Amino acid sequence: MHETALIAEVLKTVQQSALENNLPKVTNIKLAIGKLSMALPEALIFAFQVLKKGTVCEDAELEIEPKEIVLQCLDCTREFRPQDYHFSCPFCTGSQIKIIQGRELHIISFEGEENEHGSDCGSTPVKSQ
Ligand SMILES: [Zn+2]
Repeated sequence: MHETALIAEVLKTVQQSALENNLPKVTNIKLAIGKLSMALPEALIFAFQVLKKGTVCEDAELEIEPKEIVLQCLDCTREFRPQDYHFSCPFCTGSQIKIIQGRELHIISFEGEENEHGSDCGSTPVKSQ
């Protein structure tokens, strides 16, 4: 499944990065998902809920930022957003089209909580002899 593989990759990247930044817990992950990436947000969220278990991302929220498709006509160089996946230029009807935005699928950012050192000192009574 496409989405499961994607999320596995995202979790791997975030875990690696969390380790490097000394974050024991990740609280939020933001993804940019282009509408041409062929990934369904619902399927991504579902895969995330399943795969995050037992990782530093276990309590993290997944936020998805959809990216609209933006195309550029190579004939008249104008940029446009396609209607109903009709990929030809609305200005000159040219069909030489370049995709400018809409294929992305990457991590925008993630947040985590840092280790708090010695925060639970003093809560346990110590018996002195
Ligand atoms: Zn054109």
